[in-house]
Formats: sequence, C-alpha cells, structure tokens
Amino acid sequence: MNLQMPLEAVKGVGEKTAEQLHAAGLDTVYDLITFLPRAYEDFSEVVAIADIRPGKHTIKAHCEKVEIKRVRRGMTVTTAVLSDGTAKLNAVWFNQPYRAAQLKGDDEYYFSGTYEFSYNRYQLTNPSAEKVSDMPVSTDRIVPIYRAIKGLKSQLVRKLLIELRPFVRILPDPLPADIVTSQNLLPYAEALLALHFPKDARDIERARDRLAFDEMFDLLLAAELNKQSHAQLTGWHIPFDKKAVQEFVAGLPFQLTDAQRRAAWEIIQDFEREIPMNRLLQGDVGSGKTVVAGLAARQAASVGFQSAIMAPTEILASQHAETLTNLLQPFGVSVGLLTGSVKGKARQELYKQIASGGVDVVVGTHALIQDAVEFHRLGFVVIDEQHRFGVAQRQQLLHKSERMPHLLAMTATPIPRSLALTVYGELDISVLNERPKGRKPILTKLWSPNSRSQLYDLIEEQLAKGRQAYVICSLIDDNADNELKSVQAEYKKLRVGPFKHRQIGLLHGKLKPAEKEAVMADFASGKTDILVSTTVVEVGVDVPNATVIMIENADRFGLAQLHQLRGRVGRSEHQSYCYLVMSDSKAPSKRLREIEKSNDGFYLAQVDLDLRGPGEIYGRAQHGDLNLQVATLGDTKLIARAQREAKDFVAAKRDLLQYKQLANQVERYQRLTKLN
Ligand code: ADP
Ligand code: MG
Repeated sequence: MNLQMPLEAVKGVGEKTAEQLHAAGLDTVYDLITFLPRAYEDFSEVVAIADIRPGKHTIKAHCEKVEIKRVRRGMTVTTAVLSDGTAKLNAVWFNQPYRAAQLKGDDEYYFSGTYEFSYNRYQLTNPSAEKVSDMPVSTDRIVPIYRAIKGLKSQLVRKLLIELRPFVRILPDPLPADIVTSQNLLPYAEALLALHFPKDARDIERARDRLAFDEMFDLLLAAELNKQSHAQLTGWHIPFDKKAVQEFVAGLPFQLTDAQRRAAWEIIQDFEREIPMNRLLQGDVGSGKTVVAGLAARQAASVGFQSAIMAPTEILASQHAETLTNLLQPFGVSVGLLTGSVKGKARQELYKQIASGGVDVVVGTHALIQDAVEFHRLGFVVIDEQHRFGVAQRQQLLHKSERMPHLLAMTATPIPRSLALTVYGELDISVLNERPKGRKPILTKLWSPNSRSQLYDLIEEQLAKGRQAYVICSLIDDNADNELKSVQAEYKKLRVGPFKHRQIGLLHGKLKPAEKEAVMADFASGKTDILVSTTVVEVGVDVPNATVIMIENADRFGLAQLHQLRGRVGRSEHQSYCYLVMSDSKAPSKRLREIEKSNDGFYLAQVDLDLRGPGEIYGRAQHGDLNLQVATLGDTKLIARAQREAKDFVAAKRDLLQYKQLANQVERYQRLTKLN
C-alpha cells in the first residue's frame, strides 16, 4: 500500500465511482488526501427537536411517516415526520425519492440540514440522513464540504477519506523538520487530519495556517531558485551609447518625466551587465511606457542588436509600429510590423528581412512566436501588457536568440508591493509613478441612465471643440437575455439621433483585422468623431485627442477594467472626462464611488484588494494555474515569514533534492512563474 496507489484499490471504489473521481482530477490516494475542503458546516451538536431554532442543525430521530408526491415534470417531493421523543418535525426532500425506502423501519438516524420557514411552515430542508449505528460521515460533526468538481459528491469524498484515514496519519512531512519547528507549525499529517476530520474551529485554523505556509514557502522558494538560475546565464552585452540616447531624447516632442528617465537608466545599466535583464516596467495607464521601450530599442539598435516587441492585439501592435517608426526612423532604425494580417509575399519578405537583420525593431502580435520567424541577432525583447500572455508564449519569443535576450515586461496592472513579491518575485521592478507634465486629472462621474441626453450634450460640447469621444458597451449585439447595451444598437441609435451630424466609427472583436485597422486609423486621424466600441480598446489604445469616454453598464465592470478604459482619455494637455453610466437608478456601490474619487491605479488596486480579496483580482487573472488552495497572495505576514525561510534555505545552499515532495512542488511553481 502506498500513496501513489490508484483510487480503484480503495475499498468502496467501483468502476463508476472511479470514473467520477478521475473526472475530478483525483487519481491516486495522495490526490484525494490532499484534496482540501473548501468550507465546513458545523453539525457537531445534536439538538432536541423541542429546542430547535431556524438554522443549520443536526437532530437524532426516527421516521414516523414518509410519503412521496410527484409534482410537475417528473419532480418528486418526499416528506417525512421525524420524532426524537421531545417533539416532532417535518422534513422535506426534493427529487430524492430514495429517501422513502431509506427511512422505512424503526432505526434511528442523524439528520443534518437547514431548519427554515418555507411553503408556509417550518421544516428541515434536504437534510442528509445517516444511521446512528453506521459510523456517520455527513452528520453529527463539523462536516467538510469539498468542491463539487464535475458533480463529485462531498458525501463520497468523506466516505473514502474515512477509509484512507490510516494513510493520512503516516503522511511524511514535505518540509524540513527544522523549519516546522522554527515556524511553530503543525506537522503535515496532523494538519491534514484536522482539515478532513476537524474537532473544532481552532483545529481547522491551525491546520490551514500550516498548509498556507507550505504554499507560500514553495512559491517564494521557486522565485528564489529562478532568480539564482537566472544569475547563471550569460546575456548580450549592450554597451551604453550616450550619443544615440541623447539624440533620441532630444528628438522627442516632449520632455521625459523623471520616472521615465529613471526607468530608462535602469534598463541601460542592465544592458551593460553580463546577466540578461529580467525587468518588469509597471506604470499606470498613460504613464508613457512605450517611449521607454523605444529608447531602449534605440540603444540596442545602435550597437547592432534587434528588438522584438510583442503586444496582445493587432490594434495595439500596429499602433506601436506607427509610434516607434516615428520615433526611430529619423535615426535610421527600421521598424517592421508582423501580425496575422501580413500575408503572402509581404510576409515572406518580412521574414527574410528579420532573418537577415534588415529590420531592427520587429513589432507584432503572437505572430512573432511562430517557428518561421528567425532573427538575425535578437538582443532585446519587450512584452507589452505582459499579463495577457502565457508563460509559454513569453518563453517561445525569448528562445529566438542564441543567448537569453534582455527582457522588459510591461504592465499597467498596478500590483501592491506585497503581491508583486509573490507574483513577480524573481523580477526587478521599475515603476512609472508619475504622469507626463501638464496632464490634468481625468474628471470621473457616475451617471444615472435617466439623464443620458444631458450627457450627450456634454459630449457634444467636447466634439464642438474639435475633441473626440469613446462610447463603450459590453456587448456586440443585443441579447434578449439581458438589458446590457450593445455597440450595434448604440451605434445605430447615435447615428440617427443625437449625433446624426457627426462621424461615428464602430469597433468590436468580430470585425476582420483589416476592418479594425481601418476603423482605428479613421479615429486616430480624426476622421471620425466618436468611436463606439467594446472593450477591445481597453488595452493600450492611444488617441491623445480623445477627451471623453462614456461607459455604459459601468457597474458590470471590475474596478481595474474601468480604470484601464478610463485611461484611453487624459492623454494630452486637454481636460478629459469619464462618465460611468449605471445599469439602473439604484445607489451605486462603494466600489464605484472609489473610482469616481481616485485616478490612481495603485490606490484602486488596493481598494479592490481590500474589498474583494486578492484571489478575485490576481488569483485567476494572473496566476490561476498556481492553484493555491489555502494561502492568499496578499497575506503580508505570511509572505514575510515564508520569504525569510526561503531566502535562508537558498543562502545555506541546502539540497532541495533531499526533500522529494517539496522539490516536486517547487519545481512546478518554478515552471509556472518563470518569465524566461
Ligand atoms: P502607456 O503607459 O499607457 O502605455 P503610452 O506609452 O501609450 O502610455 O503613452 C501615452 C501618451 O503619452 C502617448 O501619446 C505618448 O506619446 C505620450 N507621452 C509619453 N511620455 C510623455 C511625456 N513625458 N510627456 C508628454 N507626453 C508623453
Ligand atoms: Mg501601453
């Protein structure tokens, strides 16, 4: 018997059960033992029926009478009268006709369920029922609730775990014993026993604390090891070309901000090092990240290195190509654009140019990572809006060079410091915490749907001054199932109604790439006054003359997303406005009030973090694959503890391979979080 044994070998697991377990991703004894409850229900106290109050309870009773009624469409309702000698009570089950057969006879049962008022009387709704003479698993204790992956029943998991209990007891501890002691942690086996068979709430808390430490320690150790292995690499030496940089800066139509200068200088210094750069450039929307990347590409080109700049959408890639062409061409640095829309002969020609070094800076979408793309001498890689790419995609691009190229990952997603450590632990970070000079804060207002016409007047005021506007809707087409606004319908409405004298563009994800490009080009050149668009403009789009954005059904968006959308305006010295139109005239939430008050992405991220927890914001979006079961990425105390141990572990040059289970877990995290 061992932990890697298939679950089929466990008593009570037949073919059907095995199938269910496999479907939920549980194959071995180990898998099931480490499958943690997501919640608990406290049924540990048996109450007398005479004392029962509304809420979740366990009673110990026998069944006096049971009846099945068939109602509409094959539904059944099973009702029973339960008695424990103190009083009687009604129980009801929906679509569980087998209860009738189960409860016949005089046996005593534990019933655990919710006692509530419904259908005009008090009753116990859908209680679980287990014979007192059997060992109960779902009643009469604090009952763990497991995630119902593909319909997997908690009840089944509980039963099997009782069979496996002896295994849990002998589970080896994945952490080195000295760490368990110094951190005052519960031994691993005890922690798992406590989670699957808790005695009380305190028991559960200590157990969760132990497992959360493991997850965080593994994650941070992985980051430390990634950092260490990165330091072994030899990259390209790109010496500082002062003249090239000075000329570039002098040629800009604006003054760089201090933050931009600082970030650029950090990059230039990294270029000169032996070790390839591994840097995250974090800057709020509109803080001017592109020009920093452009400056670095200029520097690389001046000593004969190519740069690759990857963006998540075609719109953004072609916008970058245009911006960079304007910035770099005057210095004889050539820029190429590679997207899915470049086809046939033109594409072949571009491939040739990239391979021969005829193009210095290649801007593109995912098209850049295809096998056919070969570089002459790739020295510098930029990933814009890096959270939109998977680890594998970043790696594929980086591997198009003989040596590890310098990497600059850019993001507008502001991450509070504590989180950055767990999510980007191995990266050096540059922050653009300053907006270009002369920018006025965007004025943001929540707007009632009943006063749309006043809002159109305000937009018209801007258009009359020669400015432009965005109107954002969440849907492409109207949908009968909900009331959300669609771009198609709004486009039609605005064209014949309030803005019939204006030029209006329509942009959404279903347009062909060439159509999107034409629509964007018309808006960028000022040919159209208003762009009605879905959130495809959310990332990166830069049309400085646009000064007003109206977002329909704003309450349906997350704070981060609204902030991103708002960032489409406020990109010039003109005063800009953001109007958030509510779905209904109810009082807006606290969350939305915050965005009305603040223009600071970092502050808003912190608010989102406090209001919704880090799982909501970064868990899935950034690192869904990490699959943290217990730890939260924003738990600063835990992070500090785990980081100290992880650093000590690496500094002491301890051999990870001595701890096999730990090594496996850490290796998995290393793969998932590594940027190159
Ligand atoms: P983001 O950080 O959101 O990617 P962009 O790189 O798109 O921002 O820059 C936003 C706009 O600000 C662009 O139009 C850019 O030309 C302009 N810009 C960048 N830096 C400055 C600066 N220092 N002064 C004035 N305008 C700037
Ligand atoms: Mg950008």
